[in-house]
Amino acid sequence: MAFLRCYMCKNTCGIIATVEGKTVRVAPNKNHPQPGICGRGAAGPYLLTHPDRLRTPLIREGDSLVPTDWETALNEVVKRLKELLDEGHPEYLAITFHDYGKELLERFAALYGTPNLIGHESVCHGPRTVAARLVLGAEGPRSIDPDYPNSKFVVFIGRNPLEGIVPDIVRRIEEGRRKGMKIAVVDPRKSAIAQRYADRWIPIKPGTDTAFLLSVIYYMIKNKMYDEDFLRRYSNAGLLVHEDDLSPTNEYSDDLLYEGVKGGRRVATAFYLLMKEGEKVYPRLKMITGVDYDDVKYVAENLWDNRPTAVIDDGWHTSFSNDSTYTWMAAFIINAMIGNLDKKGGLVFAKRVRVKLYDENRAKVKRVDKVRYPLTEAAFQEVYRAVLTGTPYPIKALMVVGTNLDGRDPNSDMVRRALQALDFLVVVDIMPSDVTQYADVVLAESTYLERDELPLPVGWTLEPWIDVHQRAVDPLYDTKPLWWILFELERRLGLANDTFESVESEILQQLGISKEELYSRGSVKLNAELYEVYPYKRELSTPSGKVEVYSTLLYEYGY
Ligand code: SF4
Repeated sequence: MAFLRCYMCKNTCGIIATVEGKTVRVAPNKNHPQPGICGRGAAGPYLLTHPDRLRTPLIREGDSLVPTDWETALNEVVKRLKELLDEGHPEYLAITFHDYGKELLERFAALYGTPNLIGHESVCHGPRTVAARLVLGAEGPRSIDPDYPNSKFVVFIGRNPLEGIVPDIVRRIEEGRRKGMKIAVVDPRKSAIAQRYADRWIPIKPGTDTAFLLSVIYYMIKNKMYDEDFLRRYSNAGLLVHEDDLSPTNEYSDDLLYEGVKGGRRVATAFYLLMKEGEKVYPRLKMITGVDYDDVKYVAENLWDNRPTAVIDDGWHTSFSNDSTYTWMAAFIINAMIGNLDKKGGLVFAKRVRVKLYDENRAKVKRVDKVRYPLTEAAFQEVYRAVLTGTPYPIKALMVVGTNLDGRDPNSDMVRRALQALDFLVVVDIMPSDVTQYADVVLAESTYLERDELPLPVGWTLEPWIDVHQRAVDPLYDTKPLWWILFELERRLGLANDTFESVESEILQQLGISKEELYSRGSVKLNAELYEVYPYKRELSTPSGKVEVYSTLLYEYGY
């Protein structure tokens, strides 16, 4: 029996695999802090013998991709990547992926010297993640999460955890429900969670979530439903802002709803200005959103009455409309208003550890998407633009790891034109997809059942867990793990000379755990305080170190 992570999606739930003859079975690892397994995960063993699998590396010969050996395939990739290095333009290489392999790809990009490791976030959780950074100094969806098992009231905005991603979140919601958690679901459609779990389903017109949340904010402020002490101490709600151009002063008011004149200019607190934004939409709530006033009252009162064990869920696929970032900024501000941050049953900062396998990225230019969108998490469309127009600088080569761009990104015509226009495209994958047909070289990867992986932090736990991943069977075909491919490229490009064992021991050293302990147990929890750390004992990673009701970054960038 081997300890595995399921790699059928990015969430890496804990599973075990058993092998009997030619049959591989996967099952939940009930001792893992994030046990699998969903339907997609259960289908994992079919990958092994799937008739369409990539069984060897492939190399382009005219219009066809033909099987080749690893030496030839890697030499071709190295030759093309070396050309860019010799030209002095490693930034002309972009790399894209879907979370899998992040630590190793970050390392490869840093050693090679390209800043252009860019993921899928603009078509996924990008707006939510930018909002989390602006308001809370947090990162992607794994960095903060509701403490579902201890929450008494949770509001889901357009999210349906019952039918999407991370079975352990469903388990945690179930645990909360057994203890009496109430749920409100704000969603135009009656999703599975609205149908099965919601105490109140609030159907809303698509694209109007921000107006709804601003109305909740307005109702709560008008009815004194906010934690004044928390906001004064840990947020910039009392920051005085010039009303004429919204520039910040350096002064704070103890009266969170102050408005007056300072130095001859009208000023108001950030919190007052937020209330005024709510006041603009609240009278037109029904017309804009289709939601009843009673629903606003229900959400506001339940959040307030159950504080701090109440929470607006931090959301997921939120690239829904052009104000999605503001939707999530409003949601995070409401969480701060009820003082639930890092409280048991509230919105908790995951105490995850980080693994970093490089010193500094040697890149000398900005990431290509950050030139136009400086605050973006990832805007891969800028890579296509750079390929097709050469601006802000050219992208000539692309490495695609385990993701199908034709299915992932909008504007298929542009995607295809860009893929055809590239000088060089290398794809690392297990199965062929639309994108492999454009490739110059395809590097056939072993499935997760056939490869070892490095120890890494567990994906979706609030506490810091580390786990291992061991192969269940030897590779059936002439395939290699991603780590092997990247270490080989690094070695052949003269960038590094690492092995699985050397990087593994570097990770164990960073995490401060012994290999024996980790491998004998499969997963290990590191010591960390779970609740009431941020922003009480440690500052947030916002410019002010506090919850930013007024985003200084947005002002700085002219938004
Ligand atoms: S959610 Fe977990 S079990 Fe399901 S496919 Fe993803 S990693 Fe596997």
